[in-house]
Amino acid sequence: MKKDPNCAYSQKGNLLNAFGYEVGELKVSTVILFCEQSHRGIVIVAYKDHISEMVDISDAERDLYFKEVNQVAESLHKLYQPDKVNYGAYGDDGSHLHFHLVP
Ligand SMILES: [Zn+2]
Repeated sequence: MKKDPNCAYSQKGNLLNAFGYEVGELKVSTVILFCEQSHRGIVIVAYKDHISEMVDISDAERDLYFKEVNQVAESLHKLYQPDKVNYGAYGDDGSHLHFHLVP
């Protein structure tokens, strides 16, 4: 898997630390606690590989990824009891598949 040298989710280290802290390594994703905590518990769940589109991974890999997004959401519900968790997947600033979870 080729790694984009400008992608924080692929390179991690200083690029990632500029906006978040890696707090968990799951089977196909990394959990990143967002520095900006205007809503307590904001995290990012980034897919393990530098993939842009969810249609570009196998059904099994996508099922596993969404299972992990759900596991993180369950943790947010337990920790923060939000009325709602919002989910966002944007690629304006790079194309690595990832979801923002905002309690
Ligand atoms: Zn990447």
